[in-house]
Amino acid sequence: MGGTPAVEALDVAVYTVPTDGPEADGTLAWDSTTMVPVEARSDGAAGTGWTYGPPACASVVGDQLAGIVVGREAFDVAGAFHEMVAAVRNAGRPGIAGYAISAVDTALWDLKARLLGLPLHRLLGAVHHEVPLYGSGGFTTYDSARLREQLSAWTDAGMPRVKIKIGESSGTRVERDLARIEEARAVIGPDVELFVDANGAYGRKQAVRVMEAAGRCDVRWFEEPVSSDDLEGMRAVRGAVRADVAAGEYGYDLTYFRRMCASGAVDCLQADVTRCGGITEWLRIAAVAAAHHLDLSGHCAPHLHAHVAAAVPNLRHLEWFHDHVRIEQMFFDGVLDPAGGTVRPDPDAAGNGLTLRRDAAERYRRDRR
Ligand SMILES: [Mg+2]
Repeated sequence: MGGTPAVEALDVAVYTVPTDGPEADGTLAWDSTTMVPVEARSDGAAGTGWTYGPPACASVVGDQLAGIVVGREAFDVAGAFHEMVAAVRNAGRPGIAGYAISAVDTALWDLKARLLGLPLHRLLGAVHHEVPLYGSGGFTTYDSARLREQLSAWTDAGMPRVKIKIGESSGTRVERDLARIEEARAVIGPDVELFVDANGAYGRKQAVRVMEAAGRCDVRWFEEPVSSDDLEGMRAVRGAVRADVAAGEYGYDLTYFRRMCASGAVDCLQADVTRCGGITEWLRIAAVAAAHHLDLSGHCAPHLHAHVAAAVPNLRHLEWFHDHVRIEQMFFDGVLDPAGGTVRPDPDAAGNGLTLRRDAAERYRRDRR
C-alpha cells in the first residue's frame, strides 16, 4: 500500500454543555451533557467523530488508543478497530473504553471518506436516500407547558412519531406517567405515533398494567419497560403488550446484542454508535439483528448515525434526541434538516458533511481527566 497516507494525529477535546432546563428520565437526572470529539488528521484532511460520555473517555483516547491509530495507514479502519478492542481487554470494553473506541472509529471512517472524496454514506454503501426520525425528549421534569411546546414543535415540523420519558422517580409516579401519556396523545393528535421510554424503571407486571391503563392512547413503542438486563422480563412484557418493546442502548459488543435478540426480548433492537464501538460495530450489530429478523433503531447522536443508518437495510429509524440535537446544531456546520420527519445525508459533501465550529464549542471546553 505504498503512497497510502498515514494517520498523522489524533486530537481529543472535552466539552460540557448545560442543558436548557432540568432533565430526567425514569432512573436518572442530569443538568449537563458532555461531548468528547475526536479529530483524526491525515494528508490535509480531518475526520471527526465523537461520543457523549464522561471526560475520562478523552483520557482513554489519549492514553490507550492514540498510539494504535497514529502512524497507521488511514484506510485501515478495520485493523484499527480490531487492535483498539484488543488493547482495552484489561480495562474492560463496556463503558468508557467502548465510548472512546466509538469516538475514534467514527472519526476514522469520516477521515477515510474525506481522503477518498466520498460522502460517508456512499463509502459505506447507502441503501436509503432518506433516514426516518422520531422526535425524542419529553423529560419527566417538564411541566405541561414545556411538554406541549416540544411536542408541537416536532409535529409542526412534520415528525410522524415522538417519544416521551415515563417511569418517573423509578416508577413511583405512575399516575403522573399516565397523565403525561394522555396529554402527549392529546397534543399530537391521532395520526402521530406515540413512543414511551421507561429507562428500566418499572417492574414486570407494573409495566404491563401501565400499558393497559394507557390503552386508549395507542402507544406504539415501549422502550426498556423493565431493566434491559432483565431479558426474561422484557420478553414477558413484550408478550403482554401491543406496543413494540425496544432496548439495546447499553450494548457494547456483539455478544450482548446476540443474547438480546436470541432471547426474544425485543421487537426492535437499538444500538448507539457512540457507545457500541462506532460505525464498524454498528454495521455488524445490524447484521445480528437482521439474522433474527429484527430492525435496528439508532439511539441518540443523530448526526453521527445518519450516514451509517442509510447503509443498513433493516433500519427502522433514528432518535432525534433533544439534548444532542441542540448540541450538534450549536457545534457543527452542515447539520441535517429534520423537516418532514426524515434526514437526507448530503450526496455531495465529503465524509459526514460536518465541520466542528471551534468558536462555538470553545466556551464549553474543559480539561480532560
Ligand atoms: Mg432509552
